[in-house]
Amino acid sequence: DMSIIGRAGELRELGVSALKIEGRMKRPEYVAAAVTACRKALAGEPVDLETLQSVFSRSGFTDGYFEGRLGAEMFGIRQKEDVTAAAGVLGGLETLYTDPRKQVQKVEADFRFTMKAGEPARLVVTDGDGNISEAAGEIPQAAVNRPTDPERAAASLSKTGGTPYHVRSVSCEIGEGLMLPASAVNALRREALGKLDGLRGKTRAIPFDRARAGAPRGHAPAPLPALRVRAYSARQLSPELLEGAELVTLPVPELVKLCENGAPAYADKLCAGLPRILFSGGEALEKQLSLLRERGIRHAAVGNPGAVKIAGAAGFMLHGEPFFNAMNSYAAETLAGWGLCDLLLSFEATLDMAKRIQSPVPLGLTAYGRLPLMTVRNCPVKSFVGCARCKKGENFLTDRRGEILYTSCAYGCSEILNPVPLFMGDRLPELRGLDFVELRFSTESPEECGKLFETYRSGGEFHGKFTRGLLYKTVL
Ligand SMILES: [Zn+2]
Repeated sequence: DMSIIGRAGELRELGVSALKIEGRMKRPEYVAAAVTACRKALAGEPVDLETLQSVFSRSGFTDGYFEGRLGAEMFGIRQKEDVTAAAGVLGGLETLYTDPRKQVQKVEADFRFTMKAGEPARLVVTDGDGNISEAAGEIPQAAVNRPTDPERAAASLSKTGGTPYHVRSVSCEIGEGLMLPASAVNALRREALGKLDGLRGKTRAIPFDRARAGAPRGHAPAPLPALRVRAYSARQLSPELLEGAELVTLPVPELVKLCENGAPAYADKLCAGLPRILFSGGEALEKQLSLLRERGIRHAAVGNPGAVKIAGAAGFMLHGEPFFNAMNSYAAETLAGWGLCDLLLSFEATLDMAKRIQSPVPLGLTAYGRLPLMTVRNCPVKSFVGCARCKKGENFLTDRRGEILYTSCAYGCSEILNPVPLFMGDRLPELRGLDFVELRFSTESPEECGKLFETYRSGGEFHGKFTRGLLYKTVL
């Protein structure tokens, strides 16, 4: 796990205004311990990192990319002993989050208290988010001994322990010679704060134009979508494939190799795939892109705003990759406004959703391939076997079920691929209504690429394990 808790003070000095604590797939005790450690570090108190370490992994923490030290030491190995070690400290950590008295009062509330003769006492509470709650209570009595004064009223109203509210201000308007028992003021406070809880718990509807959700585009007679190909390497492309595909994307370095001796065949349908993430080497990339333009390459596939800028400036026609995670009409319209001439929707878009999106530019889906599961900065196999085979797509990890996850790194990032490819070649009619689909070739041999391309032209079965991805699942 990454931890720079010990350096929280430094982060604040750098101008960092918020810290994020990742708790996904972690036990509540771990989250509680991590939050507590962060709070202590920010308060300048000593932090018990050892407890935190024993809850998850005794291999310790890495400071991740903070010091720019990549390599083997970033990886910890979680073992059975870690689980037993965790059991010993979990019980103690439970109190960190089950004790309501430790609830943090972080919602600022302003109180307005009114007490007039012959009228029920009133309390109006306002939070900083525009919520106003109001409670009316008993009618005040004529004071026999001590009338209720603003100080006494404020003292009762400020008792917000056990709630998330911190009283920022109390203003009182109290008629002369009146009295309300403290218990009645307390009841008023509880009622108003309870109502405020209710208001704060309500989700606010985001204005949404239902018409934009759209009806399915293209009915049964719609033609099959055009076929596009993305390959890792130029050697995966046969002349038949180049002939049949509408657009063929290769990573920039691969395309540069193809263009070494002048304009390549099919230059008009070759597309330069820009890196998904670029940490350095921007200038070299710009040079490569201008060479490609000289060789007659007109298309570029982009998946982030930086790539849009670089490839746009170089004069390419821009094709949006799935990494924009476009899932709706608003996203399609925005990206079209950025100058994209078409768009591959998110890997998580369903078939049905994809056909309903209203878009000013053609839309497509990825219909074949080992989809990237993760993109990581630190190549996971580099420390063990080196990266030479990454380029050839021959490095892999094995998961606990023995599945092979191919990894390949480029531009300082490594992609980890799903062991099982997405396949739709036996359901071509269901792709009707899309403008195009892309086949994403990674570790496939040139022969396999050719066969798969044919399958997507005329339909056919897949021999081996495959997945339908999320095409039929509802993610949102
Ligand atoms: Zn590598």
